[in-house]
This record gives sequence, C-alpha cells and structure tokens, in this order.
Amino acid sequence: MSHVWHPYAHLKTQSPAPRVIGGEGPRFTLESGERLLDATCSWWCMIHGYGHPRLVAAIREQAGELCHVMLGGLSHEPADRLAGELVRVTPEGLNHVFFSDSGSVGMEVAMKMAVQYHQLRGKPGKHRLLSLMKAYHGDTAGCMAVCDPEEGMHSLFAGYLPRHHFAPAPTAPFDADPASVQADLDRLEAVLERHHQEIAALLMEPLLQAAGGLNMTSPHYLVGAQALCEAYDVLLVFDEVATGFGRTGTLFAADHAGITPDIMVLSKGLTGGYLGHAATLATDRVHDAFIGDSPDHAFMHGPTFMGNPLACRVALESLAIFEEERYLDRIAVLHRILREELVLDTRLRAHPLVADVRALGATAVIEVRDPASLKGVAEYARRQGVWLRSFGRWLYTMPAYITSEEDMRHITAVMKAWFA
Ligand SMILES: *Cc1c(COP(=O)(O)O)cnc(C)c1O
Repeated sequence: MSHVWHPYAHLKTQSPAPRVIGGEGPRFTLESGERLLDATCSWWCMIHGYGHPRLVAAIREQAGELCHVMLGGLSHEPADRLAGELVRVTPEGLNHVFFSDSGSVGMEVAMKMAVQYHQLRGKPGKHRLLSLMKAYHGDTAGCMAVCDPEEGMHSLFAGYLPRHHFAPAPTAPFDADPASVQADLDRLEAVLERHHQEIAALLMEPLLQAAGGLNMTSPHYLVGAQALCEAYDVLLVFDEVATGFGRTGTLFAADHAGITPDIMVLSKGLTGGYLGHAATLATDRVHDAFIGDSPDHAFMHGPTFMGNPLACRVALESLAIFEEERYLDRIAVLHRILREELVLDTRLRAHPLVADVRALGATAVIEVRDPASLKGVAEYARRQGVWLRSFGRWLYTMPAYITSEEDMRHITAVMKAWFA
C-alpha cells in the first residue's frame, strides 16, 4: 500500500496509480514496462519531454557547484542571468523579476504586489481583485479566492476565502472580429464601472483559460482589457503559468496582442518542468512605487526556495533549447496537425456527444456535452499507448513540443477513436 495522498483524487473511487520509472522524449515508462505517449506533458510543464540530455546535464553541473542558497541579502549567477533572460524574452517593459517556487505562489506574489502598489500610492481602498469566471489561478487560499467561484474546484471553501469581484468569461473565439469582442469587453467594463474604487488588479489567463475548461478568446480582448485597466486605474496581471513558453503559439500569449501587462506570472514551462519554480515580473511603474522611505515600502515576501540555483540553471538551459531549436516552428507544426485532425474534422464536430472542438497553439480540446461520456477514456487511451487525462467535459491534449508529427497524429487518432 502506498502512503502517498494523491492530488484531486477521490479516495474511495481512485484506482491505484501506476509507478513511473523513467522516461525519454514524449514517453514515460511504467514499472510494468508499458511506455506511454504523454498527451498532456505532465500538467503541461514537460515541454521538452522526459530525460532531455541537456537539461539533465545542466542540473548535474549546477549541483556540483551550488544547490541552494538563500536569496535574502545574497545573489548568484544563475538567478541574475535568468532574471536578465526573462526580461529579454518577455514583452517590453517587464524589467523586474521576483522568483518563487510554484505557480500558485507566483500568483500570490502578483496579487500582494498589486494591493501594496495601490496602498503605496495612497489608494488603500483598492484592495480587492477582479477575476474572470472560468479562471483557475492555483490552489493556495489567495488563489482559490480568484478561481471561478461556481464551476471551479473550491466552492466548498467560499466561507473561508476573501471575497473578490468576477466578470463573465470571454465568449468571443480566438479569431473573432473586434466587434464581437466588444460585447465581452462591455461586460467586463460593467463590473469595473461599479467597483473600480476597490479593485487593485484585473487577473486573467490571457487567451486560454486552461484548467477552467480550455476557454479560448481573442487577442483583441486583451488589448481592450488593457485599455479598460488604464481608464479605471487598475493593474493588469497576466497569469501565463499555463500559456507561457509557447503554449498558445507565440512565446507568451501577450505577444499575440502585442501588449505588456503590469505584472506577469510564469511557472509550469519555465524550467521545462524539471524543477518547481516561478517568476513574477513587473514593470518599472509597479516596481518604482516600492521605492520609498517608510517601512511599508518593503515587499514582505520571500519564499525559502526563491531563485534556487538548480531551478534557475535548468530554466536557462530550457530557454536556450527553446530558442536554438526553434520551438515556435515546431509548435506551428503541432498546431497544424491539431487543426487538421480535430478542429476541421466535420464528423467529429457533428458527433452528438461533442459540443465544440477548438485549438490554439499546441493545445486542442474536444468539449463534450456531458462529462459522463468521457468516463473510461483514460483506460481506453492507455491501451493504445497514450496517457490522456481528461477533466470535466474536456478531453484535451497539450503535448511536449518535441512530439513528432507521427506521435501527434497518434494522439489525435486516439482522441477521435473514442467517439467512433
Ligand atoms: C497550474 C496553474 C497555476 C498553479 O501553479 P502551481 O505550480 O500548480 O501552483 C496557476 N495558474 C495557472 C493558469 C495554472 O495553469
């Protein structure tokens, strides 16, 4: 019997978790000898696949030099270099990097920064946040409070969590014309108009609300949201924990819109999934508000493992591989297959169980009408050599970017075969 308490599992109905003993490329190997093609790259973070020789070597080399040291009052080369690289690759103007150890904590940092920013500017009433329905920003208490309060996983804790504001999730698809995006923006503005005096920041997963149901929207929505934030003196926070590092087809989702949010949070793909880490980036405007004489000007936050040298070093290597091996081109190829095999498949779209099929970058989802129709799909896929983990009404794939065309087509074939 295992003493491990597994995540998101119902203890009474869960089936025993198979043990993984290793992995190579897009596949991992089970104790039984089974090799499974991972269609979800381990919660979307293993973008280079398993056992990448350069990432493994970077960790080994760094381990021989320095495994860890506190970032309080000290620094080291991997942290300094990674901060510089993140400033270089993220949208223009995000010049300051605060490290932490997970996406949730990175978001906590962003929210705390936004509230303190307004405090320091003499607007202490701006202490609530504005989030979107269908949002998912993490599992810590502060993050739970900005996840979708109805469909999200945390409704049980409503009484325990701080109360924030929510605007309807955008409905205009990725390729919507600006006019149809306007209706979404009007709904967002209605909330801002009523509550802006107490709103510090608008949080969103730009273009792709991932864990809340793979809801995709238009870059025009991001542009419009930024203009509204400007008008109502609200900071714009992009949670790019899932969308960052290529998932939507550009390095960051913000790049589709050509805009710079006030704060941006990165995690999952940051280290290529090899170690847990996160970065919260801020513009000069946000950062400079913290320069002052009162004790309140200090940002009182400091995760023990922030800027961990092993994590920074592997993140640097991950980014180098991403650029040298032109991953954006690979992502474009994966996208073309996802579109051809899923989105443009008229039989799949017309299937009575299927509500919608959509794709963005290296992400595709078959949304069904009734979650019951996905029961057993994981076991079915495993028999075809594929690791698929659906949730709710969503059967999706977010493959590693090194997935070959043939493997990508195998994943889409298995997804479609479930409905055949
Ligand atoms: C996964 C995720 C988080 C939380 O990250 P953890 O590392 O699991 O804490 C936050 N925001 C988004 C958009 C995510 O996908």
